[in-house]
Amino acid sequence: FFCFVFSSWSFFFFQIWWAAGIMFQDITTLLLDHKAFKDTVDIFVDRYRDMGISVVAGIEARGFVFGPSIALAIGAKFVPLRKPNKLPGEVISEAYVLEYGTDRLEMHVGAIEPGERALVIDDLVATGGTLSAAVRLLERMGAEVVECACVVGLPEGQRRLDGKPLYILVEPR
Ligand code: 5GP
Repeated sequence: FFCFVFSSWSFFFFQIWWAAGIMFQDITTLLLDHKAFKDTVDIFVDRYRDMGISVVAGIEARGFVFGPSIALAIGAKFVPLRKPNKLPGEVISEAYVLEYGTDRLEMHVGAIEPGERALVIDDLVATGGTLSAAVRLLERMGAEVVECACVVGLPEGQRRLDGKPLYILVEPR
């Protein structure tokens, strides 16, 4: 099954080489194909439908592409985890390390009740630094993070996910 998924989807990921030699995995071509986009969402929905998840937390910006559809289908709410100074209400924030510098994710206070079961979704995981910050945010609000999920997982040697389960659909070579 996963061989089929990989061979059909890998076509959609354009790989753009930057002058610096960094390869960017672009998911926008996947979104142009209705069947591929729907299949992607459906795989997540089938996996998380019966796990008692009440929160889907999506990471800005591309976690917003997949997260709301999954949340609607499994009967959960969607909570955006945003870049600094974007959310209008009171927020808590978590810093994380990037290749060059640091960044922060923010979440509205009161978006999650203690004890809620949460899924974290993003388009891609590389080092895992962004997902780890998301997990810390949710756990500070008392949520139980069931799993992190991404469409693409870059083959990093060591991911900083602090032992949280990670579910990925495709690993480009
Ligand atoms: P990490 O924190 O795991 O090192 O980086 C993952 C974050 O950076 C995700 O939010 C992801 O959207 C973004 N990102 C890093 N590299 C790429 C890439 O090649 N393609 C895409 N679509 N996102 C990337």
